[in-house]
Amino acid sequence: MKAVVVGAGIGGLCTAAGLSSSGADVTLLERASEVRGGGSGLSLFGNGLRALESLGLRSVVPDAREVSPTLNGTRRPDGRWLTRFDPAAIADLRVVRRSDLHEALLGRLGSGVEVRTGTGVREVHDRTVRLDDDTTIDGCDLIVGADGLRSRVRPAVTLDPGAAYAGYVAWRAITARPVDLDAAGETMGRGQRFGIAPLPDGHVYWFAAVNYDKGADTGGFDEVRQRFSSWHAPIGEVLDATDPADVGVLPIEQLARPLAAFVRGRCVLVGDAAHAMTPNLGQGANQAMEDAATLTALLRGAGQDVDDALRTYDRLRRRRTQRIARQASAVGRVGQWQSAPAVRLRDLAMRAAPDAVLNGQLRRIQDWQPPVR
Ligand SMILES: Cc1cc2nc3c(=O)[nH]c(=O)nc-3n(C[C@H](O)[C@H](O)[C@H](O)COP(=O)(O)OP(=O)(O)OC[C@H]3O[C@@H](n4cnc5c(N)ncnc54)[C@H](O)[C@@H]3O)c2cc1C
Repeated sequence: MKAVVVGAGIGGLCTAAGLSSSGADVTLLERASEVRGGGSGLSLFGNGLRALESLGLRSVVPDAREVSPTLNGTRRPDGRWLTRFDPAAIADLRVVRRSDLHEALLGRLGSGVEVRTGTGVREVHDRTVRLDDDTTIDGCDLIVGADGLRSRVRPAVTLDPGAAYAGYVAWRAITARPVDLDAAGETMGRGQRFGIAPLPDGHVYWFAAVNYDKGADTGGFDEVRQRFSSWHAPIGEVLDATDPADVGVLPIEQLARPLAAFVRGRCVLVGDAAHAMTPNLGQGANQAMEDAATLTALLRGAGQDVDDALRTYDRLRRRRTQRIARQASAVGRVGQWQSAPAVRLRDLAMRAAPDAVLNGQLRRIQDWQPPVR
């Protein structure tokens, strides 16, 4: 099988590795001049790890979980707990550096994958990929669009709804030195949230989400300090341990509407190209890994019936990813509530809700197995 994968993000790297391990000749096209994971940290859950396992890639994520605060959940800015996660519900959670994950995935591509960097795709038509330099790759048996939120492959599959701004921006970084944590999770204020997650080496991945008008200029790290330094410990300490040069900020976006299809003919979408979601459940990359594992498993068992395998992929993946995207969006909306009465109500409701509800949701999302064909 001659397969072209467009985009070497997490989705593209996992798909290329999976297809190649099943015997396909894979060309991986990346527009950037190198394959690199930007953007600090990433949370991987049980479902993502299971997807990696099924792709034969589980070892790209270190198993060690050397730092594990006993408490994890949601707090108010004064430190009062709103909800607590059951440690068993997040037992598989691993926080990794994106750059490490990318490097490890790239290192696992076998000789059956030709990686072409600095190669942007302009459009896809039927079984042909047209590159930015106007050359084409023809006669593909499979074209995988793994080219992210602003996918160029998507229009070949379905009507493209484009990207929609969620109403808030996020600053992110990993501390430059380890910080002692006795607890982790997210803290919710009015129109702003702060999250902390420890890495196995004791450094801390953090994010700060703040409501902002679309297109408005965001402040720098000073603004983050000003907004959050007075929140409960150890947020101030985490910010003090951060090198301002490591801090990045970006608007939070998602697909404007769910797609009507992930597959058309021999063209298939994975990852953010298919279902870009807000990061509120930490599931975007996990779902990209599930996509790659599902596609690989279905095609491996397909024999001559590739079209049937792709139809099954479409059915399985659209339903699950679009439900998770809806949930993530709702969690973000409530988390970013700004008005004082609404926030009081939210906090009361969260404290009153049995922790079992939240833990049940966490378990359900992680409860996934690759298809057997
Ligand atoms: C603030 C934030 C925090 C997040 N935290 C988490 C988390 O904790 N856990 C989690 O699971 N997910 C998280 N996510 C989501 C996650 O980052 C994405 O879902 C995931 O990276 C998507 O991977 P992808 O490979 O589909 O797309 P991308 O990472 O966007 O990769 C697309 C690749 O395609 C390339 N490309 C684009 N266009 C072209 C073209 N025309 N031709 C060739 N190449 C092209 C790009 O250069 C890029 O390399 C977070 C997202 C944000 C914004």
